[in-house]
Amino acid sequence: MSVIEIKNLTKYYGKFQALNKVNLTVEKGEVYGFIGPNGAGKSTTLRILLGLLRKNEGEVKLMGQDPWHDAVKLHKKLAYVPGEVNLWPNLTGGEVIDLLGRLRGEFDIERREELIKRFKLDPTKKCGAYSTGNKQKVALISALVSDVELYIFDEPTLGLDPLMEGVFRKCIKELKKGGKTVLLSSHILAEVEALCDRVSIIRDGEIIETGTFTQLRHLTRTSITIDSFQPITGLENIDGVHNLVIDGDHAHFSVDAEKMDFVVKHLTQFGIQSLISTPPTLEELFIRYYGEEYSLDEETGK
Ligand code: ADP
Ligand code: MG
Repeated sequence: MSVIEIKNLTKYYGKFQALNKVNLTVEKGEVYGFIGPNGAGKSTTLRILLGLLRKNEGEVKLMGQDPWHDAVKLHKKLAYVPGEVNLWPNLTGGEVIDLLGRLRGEFDIERREELIKRFKLDPTKKCGAYSTGNKQKVALISALVSDVELYIFDEPTLGLDPLMEGVFRKCIKELKKGGKTVLLSSHILAEVEALCDRVSIIRDGEIIETGTFTQLRHLTRTSITIDSFQPITGLENIDGVHNLVIDGDHAHFSVDAEKMDFVVKHLTQFGIQSLISTPPTLEELFIRYYGEEYSLDEETGK
């Protein structure tokens, strides 16, 4: 039995179609990435999956049950961090962690202390006084403190600084080691690459790609710009190097993720003066693989 099974899920908000025949299957023990730009339908899908929102058509099964009818039972077996974290402004971070943690049954006090320390949270402050990042930490700790089968995070690292993103990633890896199932959404491809066994990419309410990162390797090329001390040679013969533009000691190209190590080693023999490496953004990827007709919202860039 799959932990999450979504088949042909369709959702309308009034006349606006937010989801069109979405399919998503997550197996036990998987860390699954749900990727798409803002407005693609990630939160809508997750809310329907959690029984917080009604679907129009399709089938949704969560741990073998119907999330709309069995919500109470199911919510004891999972932890969910919504996209927009709203906490009670007059409770302290520590109180919220206790409250949310207890909703799912007992939790380990030592685990609570350990997480507070790792995320460097001051649990004595009122939630109303926390920054966005600190509110997000409270929500993440409240979920991570629970020992449940399934963890669902909607844009979990929004508002976290890179150091804390690292802490979060480590926590997810530990959950995976413990055999837990994790579904996390993000609008940044690179963010989930190191974490996820499989991903689905959603755009305008439709799933456009599903697979492992190896299967989606063509999507995960990194752009490299390098200035070297000596003229660079030999790149044109390396499998996995693409779109090479070379001008003496200056080169620009893209490289497949699994060839990165080899290519960087090759480059060092020419002496590296500067090297800029940029992971592919979702928008680049859409333009490259799904045609120019996909243009981004110019105001938000998303
Ligand atoms: P994502 O989480 O990927 O950013 P959402 O699921 O929040 O996307 O939104 C998908 C689309 O549905 C967007 O175009 C959004 O504006 C629209 N939408 C979301 N919630 C509502 C709502 N309550 N009423 C009307 N439209 C909505
Ligand atoms: Mg969202």
